[in-house]
Amino acid sequence: MINGLQLAIATAVGLIIALAGFWIWKRKKQGNEAELDDLIELYRTACKDVRDTMFILDRSNKIVYANEAARKIAPVQAGQNAAKYDDHFHFLLEGKDEGLTLSDLIRHHKLVSSSGHSVFRNARSGRENLDFVTIEINTYKSQVNPRQHYYIILIHNENCEKKLYSLHHINPLSGLSNQYKAFSDITIKTSQGKDRGRFAIMMLELDNASYLRSILGYSEIDAIITITANVLRELTAHNSRLAVYHLHYVNFMIFIHEFSSNDEIIALFEQFQTMLNEFYSRHNDSRQITFSAGVSIFPDNGTLQGLINGAYGALDMAQRQGTGQIVIAEKSYEKVVEREIELNAEIEKALQEKQIKLYFQPIFKSNDHSLYGAEILIRWHHPTRGIIMPDSFIPIAEKSGMITKIGKYVVEEAVKQIGLWNRYEFKPIILSINLSLRELEKLEFIENLTTTLYKYGVDGSRIKFEITEHASMLNPKLTLQKLNEIRQLGIDISLDDFGTGYSSFSYLVAFPISTLKIDKSFVRDIAKHEQNQHVVATMIKLAHSLGMDVVAEGVETKEDVTMVTSMGGDLLQGYYFSKPLPKLEFQHLLAEHSGKIVS
Ligand code: C2E
Ligand code: CA
Ligand code: CA
Repeated sequence: MINGLQLAIATAVGLIIALAGFWIWKRKKQGNEAELDDLIELYRTACKDVRDTMFILDRSNKIVYANEAARKIAPVQAGQNAAKYDDHFHFLLEGKDEGLTLSDLIRHHKLVSSSGHSVFRNARSGRENLDFVTIEINTYKSQVNPRQHYYIILIHNENCEKKLYSLHHINPLSGLSNQYKAFSDITIKTSQGKDRGRFAIMMLELDNASYLRSILGYSEIDAIITITANVLRELTAHNSRLAVYHLHYVNFMIFIHEFSSNDEIIALFEQFQTMLNEFYSRHNDSRQITFSAGVSIFPDNGTLQGLINGAYGALDMAQRQGTGQIVIAEKSYEKVVEREIELNAEIEKALQEKQIKLYFQPIFKSNDHSLYGAEILIRWHHPTRGIIMPDSFIPIAEKSGMITKIGKYVVEEAVKQIGLWNRYEFKPIILSINLSLRELEKLEFIENLTTTLYKYGVDGSRIKFEITEHASMLNPKLTLQKLNEIRQLGIDISLDDFGTGYSSFSYLVAFPISTLKIDKSFVRDIAKHEQNQHVVATMIKLAHSLGMDVVAEGVETKEDVTMVTSMGGDLLQGYYFSKPLPKLEFQHLLAEHSGKIVS
């Protein structure tokens, strides 16, 4: 039976969902204003399909946002006190004789709602009291300013209930229950308490979705999603402990009631992947469609918000490990998030205090072993913890967006250094800088780059950006546009970690790449691995046929050097020649190669 209660729960849940991901996605913005912007954006998105009337008021009842539906009812203006519109927002609650204004309801909410959440059901609204509405008020406590809080008011018209039911509960593409229904079910289940048993939620996301979409197109992805939905239906059909939901375009969720061990969850995930592969092979399709999974468990990972954060956090970790992986959230997930927030603040301070140092790993030409340039790799000289390697903080900085600040700093320091070495009349070398996709997303990236080059009088041809297949695939259109702009500054692009990503060939042709860096996993000990010899030889041929040069990364022995050179590799980088060096040590090497020091 569809009733107002379900709808009210669904609406409430919709809001909670929005809040759940709030800090993970939007942490990069800071300050009151940014927080309010985020809050408005979040609620606007949450209400878009639902057509609820929505206001956000600050703690003194001033309107800070009203959506279009609200503005249709009254000429609502931001900055005005909500009481000004009481004539337009007038309600008759069930069993009450006297009407109440919006201000009355807010007052009531402030007085009685200790949970920060009030619902007024079956109210009649409008001049003739014809419409049945549910009014919901939530208090949102500012995370930035402890003295500020906001009231989010939603007025949900029950008259178009039936039509809204499907909007609320069914995903139109797959016909499966959607996110609202999923979170509503989780809310109900968690509110029953621990005694009713443990359960798990498994978030599933199609691997490399954006990339697949760019090469296959939307209709093919729609087909994959429909097939996946059918496989999930089949998987869960005869098992009353499982329920499946379609949350977003490429995201599904499995609700697992009463399970005995983590192994059971992993086995379920494996069964799903096997069934999906079997479907494709039955249809003579050699495609390997994989999903990544993140799991969290009630009560270990907390209630609604903790569970969702935990599952998405685990999914994120699974995706970092590659494709087709599953990660079960640790109990301490919330602590991990807290630690990440702290770490980002520390990085910001480290940048200001120049604790982040540039190291230079030399790159040599394979034909005469003359110095070609260096890759810049950063290390954090922490005042108490010693030298911290980039793998321990870059992934976290990428997640939060802090990487854009790191990147800006690295570019400036590198360009400044080239300017200095030019003045010393050292041999002109090329510095390779690792570039994260997040940096490309920044509107001011190209402008900053141009300004920095100009400021130090350095030609763009003296730097090169290293991008990774995985990162640059996420939004191919934007990546292409930005890379072309970078190329116009005379800066070359190098494709890093080649061979470790999903697929590379169409990508290589589509993007303005001049150098291919073969990942060290293929190069290290190449003499001992016949398979790798074939792979590397093919990669080099491919790159040359496309007019690109090749860097072999991770040459550790004389045999590695000899073999890659005989295959035609143009440039060599690795421990055989040198580890990444601090600036002065590299400068010494550069001076030697510039004939300034006779050794
Ligand atoms: P990467 O770009 O693939 O860098 C190459 C990594 O391989 C470096 O690790 C380097 O020290 C290591 N390496 C070099 N030669 C050899 C070798 O012969 N054998 C072995 N086993 N390893 C070798 P590192 O310095 O720890 O950097 C790790 C990653 O951190 C880099 O991987 C890069 O993705 C990231 N990173 C470093 N600096 C920056 C930066 O300034 N910005 C961004 N966005 N990422 C950076
Ligand atoms: Ca690199
Ligand atoms: Ca690399």
